[in-house]
Amino acid sequence: MKKVLILEDEENIRSFVVINLKRAGYKALEASTGQQALDRLKEHPDVGVAILDIMLPDIDGFEVCRRIRAANKQIGIIMLTARTQEMDKITALMTGADDYVTKPFSPAELTARIDALYRRIGGEGAIASDYLTQGPFVMHVRNHTLEKSGSPIRLTQVEYAIMKLFMQNPGRALSREEILSAVWGKDYEGELKIVDVNIRRLRIKIEDNTANPVYITTVWGYGYKWGA
Ligand code: CA
Repeated sequence: MKKVLILEDEENIRSFVVINLKRAGYKALEASTGQQALDRLKEHPDVGVAILDIMLPDIDGFEVCRRIRAANKQIGIIMLTARTQEMDKITALMTGADDYVTKPFSPAELTARIDALYRRIGGEGAIASDYLTQGPFVMHVRNHTLEKSGSPIRLTQVEYAIMKLFMQNPGRALSREEILSAVWGKDYEGELKIVDVNIRRLRIKIEDNTANPVYITTVWGYGYKWGA
């Protein structure tokens, strides 16, 4: 589901935006301070669009925008500006925002801007190329790391390659031969058992209960299947 973060300290406006985001089919994450917004984005690197208010109790929205942009070139940023502050609009775009909406705004106007931004940044497709997200798992494809519920899971390169193969093929039974040739290469002449050994290690790292795995399930006499 497409995720949008709304940073706004006024609870009325925030919940009004949240209700409308949900109605438009987005998953809404909320923050009432600048720091909270930065933390939430760290926990949810797959957020596609952030909506930032400017007047906040801690860090102002422009600074939040600058910090988000410094760490993330891809995310779409919409600033909420006051109608009377012409400078705000200019400053917003100077600090790396993609768009602004002036208060008071209609829910239709805001969702139209978010939809447009999502389309421009390539929507879920562009994000999926950097991150694979399923259930509690987020894989950062660029830096080869995996998180489960926000906590990093240390994987070997082989384990990472297996996880990536799984996450690219959710719900599909993969044969042990298929896993072996995808991860170790077609010319690898070792035994299939190496697949089982690595899956066993992977389960210890990612399953809640290795005696009863729910993410990597065994397809008897064939291979394994991923689901999250
Ligand atoms: Ca405010």
